[in-house]
Amino acid sequence: MFSEKKPLRVHIELSDKCNAMCPQCGRNRIVGDKINPKNTDMQDINYVGGGQLQVKPNIQTGELVLEDYKKVFDDKFYDTFNLQKINYCGNRSDPIASKDLHEIVEYSHSRDSKTAIVIATNGGLKTTEWWGKFGKLMSGIRHNVVFGIDGLEDTHHIYRQRTNFKKVISNAKAFIQNGGIAEWQMLVFKHNQHQIDEAKQMAKEIGFLNFKEVYTPRFWSKEDGEKLEFKVGDKQYKLEPSTLDKNPIDNKKLAKHFSKKNKNRDKESGHIDCKALNINEFFLDFNGNVLPCCWLGNSLNRRSEPWLKDTLRYADNIMNWYDPKVMNGIDNDLTDILLKSIWMKQLQKTWDIAPCKTCARFCSKRINIKKAINREAL
Ligand code: SF4
Ligand code: SF4
Repeated sequence: MFSEKKPLRVHIELSDKCNAMCPQCGRNRIVGDKINPKNTDMQDINYVGGGQLQVKPNIQTGELVLEDYKKVFDDKFYDTFNLQKINYCGNRSDPIASKDLHEIVEYSHSRDSKTAIVIATNGGLKTTEWWGKFGKLMSGIRHNVVFGIDGLEDTHHIYRQRTNFKKVISNAKAFIQNGGIAEWQMLVFKHNQHQIDEAKQMAKEIGFLNFKEVYTPRFWSKEDGEKLEFKVGDKQYKLEPSTLDKNPIDNKKLAKHFSKKNKNRDKESGHIDCKALNINEFFLDFNGNVLPCCWLGNSLNRRSEPWLKDTLRYADNIMNWYDPKVMNGIDNDLTDILLKSIWMKQLQKTWDIAPCKTCARFCSKRINIKKAINREAL
């Protein structure tokens, strides 16, 4: 599926560990809502029930350690591919929570010093000493560390639950002062949109090289696409999309398209424009599983969750045929998987016959949500 003739990129989820508890992140859930008070199961994260936000069970357990990382990215891989960029991010973890991060970055740099390294973090973990040391390490490497800072002291934590604005800023300062290149990425909601200019100014003063506003597409829900209510302890919160978004998603139209009642929702055959193929980027999860993209990685890791049954409901759904014994890059040859995997070839064939819902949702030209959905949303 992937090409050794073009520069290759990889998106890596090093673990499923994170200190934060963001309400629209797949690692968390909302239980005991007022719409369905008896509910204690996984739910679609976007709804107006106002239940308790909590981390899902059986999370915080997995990690790709240095020893296994070296098995995945071996001599054959580096002899075959020109690895242009590594993006340490993922679906439900913070790379800084990985115990071997320092060594993994050093190893990657030692194998190919031209590879650019991008790290996405909430910045709330570790001490200023740790960040200073990390800044020194990264100063010798082509890199960008993206800090998710969603407003100022009085608003940041509303989305980035369990993180502390002052600590994040101190960590970012320590990193930048020691040679690190950093970007401030702000998720813009209705509750923090008035602070964009002030945050931008603060970013400049601290020394962030870039400031980026991101308008999340995650207000998509079959019940209400306009807001998300949740509780943390006794405190009630409400998230609403920003009114400043110049390219807003029509959430209600999307919800209608993917509703069970729409008989046309899966007729995306011949309309898939695969982002992974276009940019020659694959996804590696913390178990060593190799997938074309983080969206399918998410489908794989969450396939036991009841509310995802709908996504994976077809007997011919390609994700039901994914076999980690064959697709795992720790126990198998990563180069062979990327160039010769039968499962990936079958996946490509399904695009012309009956693409899985994940491919249809993120990469269908026909429903034209790609532009909006593809924006970074962590
Ligand atoms: S969005 Fe990122 S920072 Fe927030 S809980 Fe998920 S992994 Fe952690
Ligand atoms: S969702 Fe499907 S079509 Fe889109 S990038 Fe992933 S594999 Fe490709």
